[in-house]
Formats: sequence, C-alpha cells, structure tokens
Amino acid sequence: MLFKNIIGQAQVKEKLIQSVKENRVSHAQLFLGSPGSGDLALALAYAQYISCENRLEDDSCNSCLSCVKYNKLVHPDLHFVFPSNAPIKEGDNKKEVTKSRRMEFMDDWRHSVLENPYLELYNWFENIQIENKQAVITVHESTEIIKLVSLKSYEAEYKVVIMWMAERMNEPASNKILKVLEEPPPKTLFILLARNQEKILPTIISRTQLIKISRLQDQEIIAALKSNHGADEKEASVIAPLAEGNWNEASRIMLNEEAAREQTDEYLLWMRNCFAFEKKISELLDMGDDFADKKREKQKMFLQYSLHVTRECLMIHLKGFDLVRLSEADKVSFGKFSQFIHPDNCAALANAMSEAFYHIERNANPKILFLDLSLKIGRLLRIKQPEMA
Ligand SMILES: [Zn+2]
Repeated sequence: MLFKNIIGQAQVKEKLIQSVKENRVSHAQLFLGSPGSGDLALALAYAQYISCENRLEDDSCNSCLSCVKYNKLVHPDLHFVFPSNAPIKEGDNKKEVTKSRRMEFMDDWRHSVLENPYLELYNWFENIQIENKQAVITVHESTEIIKLVSLKSYEAEYKVVIMWMAERMNEPASNKILKVLEEPPPKTLFILLARNQEKILPTIISRTQLIKISRLQDQEIIAALKSNHGADEKEASVIAPLAEGNWNEASRIMLNEEAAREQTDEYLLWMRNCFAFEKKISELLDMGDDFADKKREKQKMFLQYSLHVTRECLMIHLKGFDLVRLSEADKVSFGKFSQFIHPDNCAALANAMSEAFYHIERNANPKILFLDLSLKIGRLLRIKQPEMA
C-alpha cells in the first residue's frame, strides 16, 4: 500500500512519514479510525514505508524486495491479527475454540485486504462466513503473535504487527498483549486499529501512542469518486455528502447508481427495439439471448424493474415529474419515452410484463418468452393516445 493511493488524510500521512524520517517510531500505536476512513490502509502504508529499502521523500519506493512482498502482504516480518477464531462449521457452534485459527484465515485475510484496503468488519465476516458476535481475538492469537515477535526478524529491521479491530480482543487476550506492550521485544512495532476507544483496556491505551483518523472530507471523497470511479463533478458532489466521510459508503452508492443507470439504458433500448420490431428482430433475438443468460432471479428483477418504470412513465405522462423520484439524467431519458405510455396502453403493458414474470417463475423458456413479450410490447407501444378533447 502506498500513501499516495490512500484517499485524503494528508495530516496523518505527514505525521507518520515524519516519524519515520526522524527515527522516532513509537513501538506501540493505536490508530483510532472511523468507518471508511482508511485506517487499515494507512497502517499498511506506514508499515511498508518503515520496511522499504529505498524510501522516497514521501512514500515507499514500491519496487524494492520489501515493497514487492508488502504489496502481496506476504512479507515475513509483517504479521496480522484480526477477529476470527469462531466455530465456522454448522453444528460446530458450541465447541470451544482451543487454538489460534489465524493461519487458517490468512489467505482469506490477504485476499480481502488486497481487494479492499478499506475493509470493514461486515465485509470480513461475509467473506469468511461467520456471524458478527462470534468473532473475537482470543488469547490463542495473542500468545501466537507474541511468540512470533519474540523471534528475530527475518529480513526487515522491524517486525510489524497490525492488529485490526483491537476492541475485539477478549480480556485474556488483552492482558497478554498488555504484557508485551509493557516489555516490548526490540525492533517491534505494534499497530492496533480500533473504532471504539472505550472497549480497549485503559492500561493498553496508556501504553500506546494514539493516532486519530477522522472521517474523510466531502472534497476528498469527491476527488476520489472522480479518479477511482470516473464520476463527473456533479454526480460526485451529490454522492459525497450522503457518504458522511465513509469511503465504502461512497463507493457503494456510486456502484448502485451505475447499476441503476445500466438497467435504465437496457430498458430504454429494449423499448426502442420493441417499437420497431420488424426492423429490429435480430437485435431483439440478441437481447433475448442476453436475457436467457441471466440467472432466473435476475430475469425476474429485470421484469419487475420494467414493470415499475413503465408505471412511472405513465405518471410522468399524466402528472409530470413531481410524483416520481428520478435522477436528472433519467428525467431526460424517461421524459421522451413517457410520451409512449398512456392510459390506453399502460394497463395492457403492465399485464404483459406481469404475465411474463409469472411464467418465468414457473420455468418458461426465457428466449421464447422474451421474444413473445417484446412483440406484444411493440404492438402496445404503437397504440396512439386518442387526441385530448
Ligand atoms: Zn521499497
């Protein structure tokens, strides 16, 4: 992880970098972050910078042997502790876990972090399929990690332990860690990451240097939405305040919007092809193939969506945009199309779509059904609205 790839947090970055340059890296640090702030990403970048063999002014070199290993999270002097250690198999629930299961989860951990260095607990639990309340850091993990750091480092000057969600340590685990923080082995750096200071033993807090990592600023999220997701200024400015300083939330909203836009485009293209069905038969056959390739649940979702927006279009036609919730871009697209949906064809269109939905649920052939529905829709869309009296 490079500092430059982390969103915002200029002050924290500066502070961490300075501490390395001035050779005053505190052996135990507590990063107190908020969701989606980048606390884990910062810890990774910091550890990589400390271990980099060819440090630049404000970042790791990204090419030395250490950086190469850090980029895959496989450096032998980088150790992770994270909540797991729960019985994961069904029927295993009551069994007490009597050993560290850290290594069993290590591949999942690396994969999850590399995929999203802004990882949150719920993503992690989803990835390893355990329930929230079960996941703790037990004394077995603490013992194991203390053994590891009591050995000499393999390659780097420092051994680094990153403990993610330190508030998930149970009491015996906390006491064990406290001991090692009181008498730290030489050249060892503990970075504890936590969200809730009150759930950490006060004695641990007093042994660590506290680094607060606050929520991202709207401007920082706007910039990141533009560079990471290709959002335009307007779109990014709408999403950023909704995310409340949480990058994961901003990404989630952005991806939902993208998916929604794709669905809108697909629907409108379908309607255009239906309208001109004599000329567009091959396009409709292609769309039918795509439709048939979707999983049944997706086919149903698409039909449900089509039903919903067809009704919305009638509302737009009759009452304007006041009663529908649409983005500005959708207003433009649906504004034109809604002229084709009126009281004389809307009910029949909705019926045709509902019927298709019903048959899909009962395993109808999706290709035949899609073509049949398309032709029905095409004929219905051509019904002209009687002139207003
Ligand atoms: Zn390097």
